[in-house]
Amino acid sequence: MAPNGLTNGHVAEAEWAPTSWRSKPLKQAVLYENEAEVASAIKKLTSLPPIVTPTEITKLKASLRDAALGNAFLLQGGDCAELFSYCAEDPIDSKIKLLLQMSLVLIWGSNKPVIRIGRMAGQYAKPRSSPTEIVDGKEIPSFRGDILNGFETDARRVDPERLVSAYFHSATTLNYVRGQLASGIADLHNPLDWGLGHVRDKDLQCKYQEIVHSISDSLRFMKTVGADTAGQLHTVDLFTSHEGLVLEYEQSLTRRLKHPAGYTPTKPSEDGKGWYNTSAHFIWIGDRTRQVEGGHVEYFRGIENPIGIKVGPSMKDDELIELLDIVNPTKEIGKVTLITRYGEGKVEAMLGNHIEAVKRSGHIVVWQCDPMHGNTRSTETGIKTRQFSSVFSELESALKIHKQHGSYLGGVHLELTGDAVTECVGGSEGLTDEDLSLNYTTFCDPRLNEKQALELAFLVAGHYRK
Ligand code: PEP
Ligand code: MN
Repeated sequence: MAPNGLTNGHVAEAEWAPTSWRSKPLKQAVLYENEAEVASAIKKLTSLPPIVTPTEITKLKASLRDAALGNAFLLQGGDCAELFSYCAEDPIDSKIKLLLQMSLVLIWGSNKPVIRIGRMAGQYAKPRSSPTEIVDGKEIPSFRGDILNGFETDARRVDPERLVSAYFHSATTLNYVRGQLASGIADLHNPLDWGLGHVRDKDLQCKYQEIVHSISDSLRFMKTVGADTAGQLHTVDLFTSHEGLVLEYEQSLTRRLKHPAGYTPTKPSEDGKGWYNTSAHFIWIGDRTRQVEGGHVEYFRGIENPIGIKVGPSMKDDELIELLDIVNPTKEIGKVTLITRYGEGKVEAMLGNHIEAVKRSGHIVVWQCDPMHGNTRSTETGIKTRQFSSVFSELESALKIHKQHGSYLGGVHLELTGDAVTECVGGSEGLTDEDLSLNYTTFCDPRLNEKQALELAFLVAGHYRK
C-alpha cells in the first residue's frame, strides 16, 4: 500500500484525524520559532465555538450539487490577501453590495440561481514562491498573510498569536455580514437603493438600470400574486471561503459535530456525527499545495465541507483524477469544485483534456474558472497587474470549451474589491499601466475594482444571452 493509504487509486480504510496531515510532507510549511506559543494558540482556538455550522455548510454543499449538474452558477470573489484591517464597516459593505450586484446580473444572464461565496472572513494566508524577499537591499521573511506575520517590514516574524487573531477577525467579519443581510442590505424589494452612483460609465449604468427594472418588475409580480409569503426576497445567502493553507488553524477549527437532519453524510457513522471544518463554509487547496502525497490533501480528504482544488497548467490528467479519488472516493456530486487557472494562452490546450479525463473518471464536479491567476504580468516598472481583456478572454474560452465538450461552466472565481482601486488595467475605464499608481493598495495580487468586476459580470451575462 502507498504511504498515503491508497491502493489502486481507491482510499482504503486509512485512519484520518484532524491532525493526520502532520505525518505527511508539507509544502509552504510554517517554521514557528516557539512551539509552546503555537501549542497555546491551538489550545485557545480549539476551545472557541465554530464560526460556521454544519447546517450552513451542508446547505452550500447541496447548492453546489446543483451547480455541478448545470442548474446553478457559482460566483466566488474577494481579496487575494484579506487583511485584518479590512474587518471594518465600509470594505465589508462594499464587498457585499458588489457581490450582490454581480449576482443579479448573472441571474439575469444565465437564468439560473446564483450561489455567492466571498473570499472573505478568513482569507488571511498566502502561499509564497520564496520564503524571503529583498526589501531596500535587505533580505527579510516574505509576507505570508495576516494570519502569520505583518506586511510592515519590521513585523515579518511569524507570531502564533495571529492564528487566534485570525479567528476573531473572521468571526467579526461574518457577524457583520450576517447582521447586514438580516437587516436588509440585500432586500430584493429595494434594488434601487443599492447605490449605482459609482457606475460612471453611461452605457454600463443604462444596462444595469435595465436589469434592475426587469428584476423589479418580476418582484412586483411575485408580491402581487403572493409568492413571497416566506419573505425569501428580503435577504440572500452569502457563504465564506478561504485557501486552507495554514493547517494548524484549520485543524483547530475542525470539529466532530452532528449531521443536520436530512443530510446524507460523506462518511456515515454510528454516532450520526462527522468532521466539519467550521472556519468557513468552503475551503480550497492552492495550486502549490495540491500534491497527492502531501499534508494538505490529507487534511482535505477528511472533512464534510464542499472543497475546491486549484488546477494550474502543470496539472496532469491522471494526477487530477487521483486527487479526486482521494478527496471524494464516493464521487459525491458537487463535493469538489475544480478551479481552473491556466492563463489565456494555455486554457485552449489544457481545459478540454481535463474535462474529458474527469468525464471518464465518473466524477461530477463544479467547473469554476479563475481567470485571474494565470494572467498576472509585471509592468516595466515591476508592478504586478492583470489585463482586463486577458481575464475576460480566459473566461470566454472556458465558456466555449465547456460547451464544445458537452460540459457546463458552473462558476467564476475572481479577485475583486468593492473599492475604486487601480490594480488591473483595461476595462471600460481604460486604466493603463501609468494609472496603476493612483490607488494601488493590494498587499498581494491585483484585484478587479467594482467597475471592472461588474463589467465582467455583464460580459458573462451577455455571453449567455447571445
Ligand atoms: C490565490 O487564489 O490567491 C492563489 C494563490 O491562487 P493559486 O493557488 O491558484 O496560485
Ligand atoms: Mn491571488
